[in-house]
Amino acid sequence: MEFSQYDINALMQITNRPNLVFTEGRGMWLTDHTGKRYLDYLQGWAVNCLGHSPQCIIDAVTAQVGKLINPSPAFYNEPSIVLASMLTQHSCFDRVFFANSGAEANEGAIKLARKWGKVNKNAAGENRYEIITFNHGFHGRTLATMSASGKAGWDTMFAPQVPGFPKAELNDIESVEKLIGDKTVAVMLEPVQGESGVIPATREFMQALRALTKQRNLLLIVDEVQAGMGRTGELFAYQLSDIEPDVMTLGKGIGGGVPLAALLAREEVACFEPGEQGGTYNGNPLMTAAGIAVLTELLKPGFLPAVRDKGEYLGAELRRLCVRHSLDGERGEGLLRALKLGKDIGPKIVEAARNLEPIGLLLNSPRPDLLRFMPALNITTEEIDHMISMLSEVLTQLGH
Ligand SMILES: *Cc1c(COP(=O)(O)O)cnc(C)c1O
Repeated sequence: MEFSQYDINALMQITNRPNLVFTEGRGMWLTDHTGKRYLDYLQGWAVNCLGHSPQCIIDAVTAQVGKLINPSPAFYNEPSIVLASMLTQHSCFDRVFFANSGAEANEGAIKLARKWGKVNKNAAGENRYEIITFNHGFHGRTLATMSASGKAGWDTMFAPQVPGFPKAELNDIESVEKLIGDKTVAVMLEPVQGESGVIPATREFMQALRALTKQRNLLLIVDEVQAGMGRTGELFAYQLSDIEPDVMTLGKGIGGGVPLAALLAREEVACFEPGEQGGTYNGNPLMTAAGIAVLTELLKPGFLPAVRDKGEYLGAELRRLCVRHSLDGERGEGLLRALKLGKDIGPKIVEAARNLEPIGLLLNSPRPDLLRFMPALNITTEEIDHMISMLSEVLTQLGH
C-alpha cells in the first residue's frame, strides 16, 4: 500500500502516535509498513488475550460472517445465546447484556444500579443513585464513566461532571464506610486497578467490601474490563478473593480483538424492563461468535494454570531485572504486571524499545515511573525471555 497518497491528518489526533503504521499481526508479533517486526507487550491494551489474529477467531468470524452478520437486537441469534449461557455457567451471574465497549458496559452497570435504587428506595422513600467509586480508578471515556473514574484532572476536563460518584481510597474500607449515605446504592471498583499502574485490591479489602455492601443493602459492582477473562490467572478477578459480586462488566479480552463487552448481573439485580437498555450492536452474532471462540480457548484444561505459571515466571524475571538495573520492584496478578522504575524514565524506555533494531519492542508506560505488561495469555516463556533481554539492553543503552 502506498501511504503517501493518503493523509494521516484525516484522523483526529486524539493521542500522540509514533510515525509508523501497522499492517500485520500474528501472536505476540506485529509488522509495520516498512516490514520491521515488533514484539508486542501491549496487545491492543490487554485486548488480544490470544495474541494477534489467533486461528480460532479467524475460523469463528469467517464462518459467522458468511452465515449471519446482523439480525438486530430486536431478535434472538444463536451465538449471543451460546456466549451468554457459557458466561453464566462459569460465573456467579444469571443474566448478560452485550455491549460494544467497556465504557458502554459500565454505563449499563451505572444505569442498572440507578434502576435498582429506584426499585429499592431508602428509608425515607427516596430513590438511591450514588455509586461510590475510587481515586485512581478507570471506567472509560463516556461522560458518566469519566465521572466515575478517579483520574487526576478528569473532574474538570469536560465539566460539569455527571453527579453521584463520591470517591474512596482503594484498600481502605473506612474510607468507603464514611461515604455511605442515604442516597448510596452501590460500590464500583476494578479488582486490579489497571490504568493507574496495576494496583490490586487486597483479598481482605474485597471481602470486607462484600460484607459491608451486603450489610448496608448496596450493590457490589466489579469492573473486570481489564482484569477479567483469564488475565489474572482466574477466569474472573473476583474469584481471587472468593467473593460473589452483584454485577460485573467485561470488555477488552472477551472479544480477543473484536469489539465486544458485557454487563452481567445476578437475577435479583437484573431489573431492566423492556426499553430501558439497548444498543444497535447489542449481542451482534459476529462479535459474540468471536467471544465464544475466546472463552472456549480459556476454558480448555490447563489454560488458566498456564497463565498463572507464566505470570509467576514473568514476575520472577522482572524481579531479576530489578536487581540487575537497580529498579524498584514489580507487582501484579497473572499476566497483568507492572515494573516500578523508581524514576521517571518510562516514556524514554518505551521510545528506545520501539526503536531497537532489527526487531522492536512495544511497551506501555501508564505513569512516567512505571511500565505495564499485558502480553497475550498464551505467550511462551521464550517470548518472555526475549522481552527481558531487549528491555535489559534498552536500560543499559539509557545508562541505567
Ligand atoms: C479499558 C477499560 C475500560 C474502558 O473500555 P473501552 O472498551 O475502552 O470503553 C473500562 N474499565 C477498565 C477497567 C478498563 O481497563
